[in-house]
Amino acid sequence: MAKIDTRCVHAGYNPGKGEPRQLPIIQSTTFKYETSDQMGRLFDLEDSGYFYTRLQNPTVDAVAAQICNLEGGVGTILTASGQAANLFAVINIAGAGDHIYGGTFNLLGVSLPKLGIDITFLKADATDAEIEAAIRPNTKLVFGETISNPGVEVFDIERWAKVAHKNGLPLIVDNTFATPVLCRPFEWGADIVTHSTTKYIDGHGVSVGGALVDSGNFPWDEYAERFPGLTTPDESYHGLTYTKKFGKAAYIVKATTHLMRDFGAQQSPQNAFYLHLGLQTLHLRIRRHSESALKVAQWLQQRPEVAWIHYPGLETDPHHNLALKYCPEGCSGVMAFGLRGGRAFDNRFLDGLKLTTIETHVADCHTCVLHPASHTHRQLSDEQLRAAGIAPDLIRLSIGLEDPEDIISDLKQALENA
Ligand code: PLP
Repeated sequence: MAKIDTRCVHAGYNPGKGEPRQLPIIQSTTFKYETSDQMGRLFDLEDSGYFYTRLQNPTVDAVAAQICNLEGGVGTILTASGQAANLFAVINIAGAGDHIYGGTFNLLGVSLPKLGIDITFLKADATDAEIEAAIRPNTKLVFGETISNPGVEVFDIERWAKVAHKNGLPLIVDNTFATPVLCRPFEWGADIVTHSTTKYIDGHGVSVGGALVDSGNFPWDEYAERFPGLTTPDESYHGLTYTKKFGKAAYIVKATTHLMRDFGAQQSPQNAFYLHLGLQTLHLRIRRHSESALKVAQWLQQRPEVAWIHYPGLETDPHHNLALKYCPEGCSGVMAFGLRGGRAFDNRFLDGLKLTTIETHVADCHTCVLHPASHTHRQLSDEQLRAAGIAPDLIRLSIGLEDPEDIISDLKQALENA
């Protein structure tokens, strides 16, 4: 882990003597070429270089390289949001008529079926037999979140990767809450990692963004018929075949040359600059978030008003053993709990909070809270909430970087006054 600390600070942008100390923001949509042939070779993917900021940009690339290095991947692209990263991760290899399945993955549950991609949702603790039973001839991938939002369950990456690989499928893991400081999913067999960089990587609530990281480990050619987009000639690039031309980087090059080209969703250079600031302190912040969250969770657990609590750092949590395996240094700042007093009590509690703010957001320096049944998911009935894996009384609490004693005092006064 000490190695990662060093990489957090130094990887990515390495200025030479006399160059700017901070990452320059290349606020240019476009790049100029010396000759027509140079530009032609670029568009044939024969030379590397910059086409246009919709596809790549030097500032964005420097930050992508840093995240890639932290995760241990072969290539990374930064997207305009975490949702775009998850969407690109899927549609880079799945299309209409295909099927995907996932544990603790509900972010694209409405839109992917509209694109003709069928999804099976499984519980994170589904048995190997249940996982295998969900696989169909048209299944293209498996998806999970290292620590799920908002359920705060830990995904057994190694077990799911084994089942996926046995069936010739790649495992995609959304590593947003753990960050590569607490967990590196590639070390457990994941093939692709995504992030909402909006959360801890930014860490200050200033820029929406995402990342898509390729481990380079999935053997696409062994399952060539299942992944024709990577293993057969691409007519839009004069018939080149991604796996032949780019080897281990086939998946991530295709995500750039196809998805970024056709759908955009590139992260802006300015937002990448903010992420670069966040990355420099991520290793310190995420440990502090985790330490404070454990203290707050232990305190909440003792309160008579609290009916239940999920924080994998708690020894009593059903996911504690998985947390010890995948996130031994901490489980991030996010927890979920339910109160005994019913919906009206929940709302009085939320309204009484002073330091903690009610926000859609989660996972940054400021302590914030959300009650999905009253806020983000208020259009759903209690039945529908349960079907989506969200308990109607679930309150998500995201512990920031304030003094944990101050956070506890705030929660205490709000509970007592509710
Ligand atoms: N992945 C996880 C785990 C998230 O919590 C979120 C948002 O809350 C997303 C992806 C989507 O990210 P964004 O809000 O950056 O689009």
